[in-house]
Amino acid sequence: MAEQIVAGPTAAAFAAATEAARDAGPAAVPAFAHAAGAGPMLEAEELARHFDVSRPLLQRLFAGEARRILRAVDGVSFSIPKGTTLSLVGESGCGKSTVARLVVGLYPPTRGRAIFDGQDLAQARADSAQRRRMQMIFQDPYASLNPRWRVQDIIAEPIRAFGLVTDRGAQRDRVAQLLTQVGLSPLDGEKFPHEFSGGQRQRISIARALSSNPEFLVCDEPTSALDVSVQAQILNLMKALQRDLGLTYLFISHNLAVVRQISDRIGVMYLGRIAELAPAETLFTTPRHPYTRALMEAIPDLDMTGRKRIPVGGEVPSPISPPPGCPFHPRCPLANDRCRAEVPALLSARGTPESVVACHAVEEGRDHIEAPLAVAAALS
Ligand code: SF4
Repeated sequence: MAEQIVAGPTAAAFAAATEAARDAGPAAVPAFAHAAGAGPMLEAEELARHFDVSRPLLQRLFAGEARRILRAVDGVSFSIPKGTTLSLVGESGCGKSTVARLVVGLYPPTRGRAIFDGQDLAQARADSAQRRRMQMIFQDPYASLNPRWRVQDIIAEPIRAFGLVTDRGAQRDRVAQLLTQVGLSPLDGEKFPHEFSGGQRQRISIARALSSNPEFLVCDEPTSALDVSVQAQILNLMKALQRDLGLTYLFISHNLAVVRQISDRIGVMYLGRIAELAPAETLFTTPRHPYTRALMEAIPDLDMTGRKRIPVGGEVPSPISPPPGCPFHPRCPLANDRCRAEVPALLSARGTPESVVACHAVEEGRDHIEAPLAVAAALS
């Protein structure tokens, strides 16, 4: 079943938590701040990742079957300036998490390349000094923390592995500082992961990710397993850390409200490709691609404003046999013969030149951007 794109009270909870954090003052004195300067921290050039999901050769020969290739990511390009956040959003199976794994080198690309701070990612991954500069935060903090280790050892492991601090006392001090920085007590270092709540475990994951003094964090659905109020606290923490440490984020989420709060720019993905990429506010006030508009209209009205919710019609096609032409055409109300035959290119959109959109209707001017989106007004 398609993953639901949700929003609602997150924005309100985010604002409330922001106020609380402001009242509480700075949680800790940040260390190792990076200068957020000009130039991209990460560039993706036509990144693609295909998986061979064929049955074994003999079975295929007997059945007369061709190879089955799953195109999880099929030519994605973007750039993330230092100190900013790019979010990728879309339904389950759109390829956003595969992009996350490609840009930290967990998967080699089938095609294209990623450039990390001017250096080819494959070379950067081979150099531990460069590898230290990029870290990943996962959706399930419990699964990413070794349950048999004390928190202080979990956080200290990257410090030891990268040889950042060799003196044991200084390592303890650094772990205490990191725990304070993420809103926990230095005494929490003595405990095991199961002694914490989900939100606290995600704070531990963040402290561990920060322990190698990274500049680039890839955050794969870091709040989707948490309650709305806890989500807001974690997002506030991430925003504060970005501001204090000059971090650059690639943020993956299916939650549009979360993405709006944390992003400078948002890319909407569909079936392994970017359908639309725009500054966060532009995307919410003037979404151009029919899929982006459909996602906006599908947001549940949890604040009970009376706005009508229109679910996205149809199912996401299989990435093993995507439809010809525009992959969204079986679900698109604006589809025509050109859409069914020709893959749309990602082009600057007339009317919103800061957006790039892969849609023939937008290119031909037969979309209707003058129609205000009820959901954009409700969320603002
Ligand atoms: Fe719809 Fe055609 Fe645009 Fe695809 S290219 S989103 S089918 S109008």
